[in-house]
Amino acid sequence: MSGRAGADVLIVGGGVIGCAVGYFLAAEHGVRALVVERDGVARHASGGAAGELSVVGRSQLDATMTRDDPFTALCAEGARLHEELGPALREEGGIDYGLADTLILRPSLTQREAEEAQGQLAIQRALGLEAEWLEPSELEALGSWVTKDVYGAILTGEAQLESAPFAHALAQAAIRRGAEIVIDEVVGLEAEGGRAPSAVGRSGSYGGERVVLAAGPWSARLGASIGVRAPVRPVRGQILHLQAPAEPQRYGVFHRTGYALPKSGGVVYAGTTEEEAGFEAETTAEGRESILSAVARFAPDAARLPVINATACLRPVSDDGLPLMGAAPGWDSLYLATGHGRKGILLSLVSGKAMADLIVTGRSAIDVDAFDPARFALSRGG
Ligand SMILES: Cc1cc2nc3c(=O)[nH]c(=O)nc-3n(C[C@H](O)[C@H](O)[C@H](O)COP(=O)(O)OP(=O)(O)OC[C@H]3O[C@@H](n4cnc5c(N)ncnc54)[C@H](O)[C@@H]3O)c2cc1C
Repeated sequence: MSGRAGADVLIVGGGVIGCAVGYFLAAEHGVRALVVERDGVARHASGGAAGELSVVGRSQLDATMTRDDPFTALCAEGARLHEELGPALREEGGIDYGLADTLILRPSLTQREAEEAQGQLAIQRALGLEAEWLEPSELEALGSWVTKDVYGAILTGEAQLESAPFAHALAQAAIRRGAEIVIDEVVGLEAEGGRAPSAVGRSGSYGGERVVLAAGPWSARLGASIGVRAPVRPVRGQILHLQAPAEPQRYGVFHRTGYALPKSGGVVYAGTTEEEAGFEAETTAEGRESILSAVARFAPDAARLPVINATACLRPVSDDGLPLMGAAPGWDSLYLATGHGRKGILLSLVSGKAMADLIVTGRSAIDVDAFDPARFALSRGG
């Protein structure tokens, strides 16, 4: 291994997914991981995310959401792991990342949405989540931001965190357990016979007995450098930071068109957009307008708060919208861990744990079969 830095497992990409894989490899299997990160662990979506940990998302009703749906089951396990491991991670990482319960209202703005909401209520309860329907008069008594022009709302208690401190805590906890993180840009992978590929960085080469590609939306390009298909693309999301009112709001408001979510530090996040804009991670006037006009409809008082900042970053979204987790097709030493779309913060711990198990033991008690990259056509044997 002379001339290159080596590890048991090399992880390309140090967002929350790469760091979580490194953490669980070290913490649960005593395996030494080397994470090569281009910019910084919280520099992209992993630091710019809203940080909500909802199992059901924002939409009024998604008929695929049942306990039997593998993605919903993964989300539920993801939420459970955040709750279970939060105190230890905060301790090990040495950073309080604001993991807390928040009251969330999902208002119905039309009769049809109110009918659909009853279906969602049933789904939430079937998933074991506490959810209650509030009539407009009950809603008004709460003094929330929700518009008065409403047919009712679902009230739930859900967890959230601050995503940038979380990414740093996860990275620090992984380091404390023995993982190493280096800052370097991997410019390409190199296949070496039947062995794990090596990563060619600007400052050197990196190798491991196993390699994990966890480079978010950039994974496709890196995979392509050795003919591996990782069908993931960037979908831009913008968030406005609004200045919270002097009297803090207790409720986050989620609607399928957007959200207003009180965060720590006197800020409210208003989001978001879903834009096919390639790798352009820029904020735009159109993005700002579309967020504010959505929020104005379901939470007009929130939409009037001063905008103090705006961010944009790129979700890694796969061709079928589901994560890519498992061995790259045709490889037994190269793994993909990406494509978590809108749910990568929620799914970080469960994905890291499942990937570490898969890499070390060949199987995981967490069912990730539905996310096997083999579902997409393979383009290289190796
Ligand atoms: C606006 C917005 C709001 C969101 N809100 C939520 C939310 O509330 N809850 C939730 O669960 N999820 C949310 N998400 C989704 C979540 O942020 C992502 O799914 C998650 O961060 C993806 O993590 P990742 O590690 O796969 O990718 P990234 O965070 O993109 O990390 C990949 C890393 O790979 C590195 N990299 C890339 N190329 C190279 C290279 N050549 N060499 C070395 N390193 C490289 C990058 O620098 C980057 O740090 C949101 C996303 C957006 C955009």
